[in-house]
Amino acid sequence: MNPLLEDAARRASNYLEALPTRAVAALPAAVERLQSLEEPLPEHPQAPDDVLRRLDEIGSPATAASAGGRYFGFVIGGALPVSLAANWLATAWDQNAALHGPAPGVAAFEQVALRWLLEILDLPRDAAGALVTGATQANLCGLAAARHAVLKRAGWDVEADGLFGAPPITVVVGAEAHPTLFKSLGVLGLGRNRVIKVATDGQGRLRPELLPRLSGPTIVCLQAGNVNTGAIDPVGEICERAKASGAWVHVDGAFGLWAAAAPSLRHLCAGIERADSWATDAHKWLNVPYDSGLAFVRDGECLRAAMSVTAAYLPAHPSARSPSDYTPELSRRARGVDIWAVLSALGRSGVAEMIERCCRHARRFAAGLKAAGYDILNEVVLNQVLVGFGDAATTRRAIAELQRDGTCWCGVTEWQGHTAMRISVSSWATTDADVELSLAAMLRVAARCRA
Ligand SMILES: *Cc1c(COP(=O)(O)O)cnc(C)c1O
Repeated sequence: MNPLLEDAARRASNYLEALPTRAVAALPAAVERLQSLEEPLPEHPQAPDDVLRRLDEIGSPATAASAGGRYFGFVIGGALPVSLAANWLATAWDQNAALHGPAPGVAAFEQVALRWLLEILDLPRDAAGALVTGATQANLCGLAAARHAVLKRAGWDVEADGLFGAPPITVVVGAEAHPTLFKSLGVLGLGRNRVIKVATDGQGRLRPELLPRLSGPTIVCLQAGNVNTGAIDPVGEICERAKASGAWVHVDGAFGLWAAAAPSLRHLCAGIERADSWATDAHKWLNVPYDSGLAFVRDGECLRAAMSVTAAYLPAHPSARSPSDYTPELSRRARGVDIWAVLSALGRSGVAEMIERCCRHARRFAAGLKAAGYDILNEVVLNQVLVGFGDAATTRRAIAELQRDGTCWCGVTEWQGHTAMRISVSSWATTDADVELSLAAMLRVAARCRA
């Protein structure tokens, strides 16, 4: 066996095995040591095994243990072992997943993964899909398809003629839309600020009764899974109104869309299949390695019109789907392999169980903190919990102490005027024991800060 690859596999395996017993945050000494990277570009070759050893010695301790079971910051998934292993093998293949012709194998895995995803998320089975880097890029894909469609209906070819002189597009978003949605709107020339913001309720859900009268080219952006509360907009109700007026409905469901894959949570997404485009992540709740996002568009021709690429040297395959006709990229890695591996290994019931398990852990956190007298600031409908430990300063102090304590990791957020700690349970690796250990640490630290 190739000793370098064997060494890498051994080091990776040792790293993962040590996660349960190490501090979750990178220790200050390890971060300090990153300074040693500040050296001149090597003039001459170095032995690859030395390079790998240094990477491990300097890099591994300077990581957050987000691949382990007690990392609850942001919305960060782990990587199921089967998807990590598949990812390694596919990286060894080093295929360019842009085109079907030169890389038929990875194109086939991608196509099957997309078909299974539409089934598991219960979206229109003939929707087009794109495997991209994350939900930010997936939002870009959905909104680019939307821009194409609403302007085409107004007699304007945006891909050919651009936006100068085009009929204006009304863009409606919820006041609690994710910041990356505005980034995508800005990139597409739709403007980060020239949007109509609709107020939300106490959970961050867009209030449908405040939706303005819609006419002309319009894109309505909804959200499934508020990053703070996990709440999902009343998608079905809004779709009905928006679509009656001919608007395009896009759903940013970076993690919340996965509620659709779990029978006990599916009702939260009722009517979501009536939207026109959907963005989600695989690297969050499906637990594949970074980076992996997904865009789906009901009328695939709109995505294709926005993203297709043609050139004499790019072999068009008359009967096969060319992935790069649906993505912003041309060359790219074979993300479909990691996703195919997870869906193969877990199946429909395994994915549902993973999603439901994370939500059960979130409810346990909320119940344990509430029983100790702390304020739970959201309805725990999904995998997100917001907790306050007293006034803002006390909450901030408790979070900082918890991060230093090292048992688990949670971050700070501001929610509708309150400073809160955010717990996001998004990893396959989190066990009941991880939750109890983490909860005990939270209660210990919070009690000390309150005293
Ligand atoms: C995480 C998230 C995003 C951004 O996703 P990336 O994968 O980081 O690009 C967008 N919207 C929502 C609601 C999110 O939770």
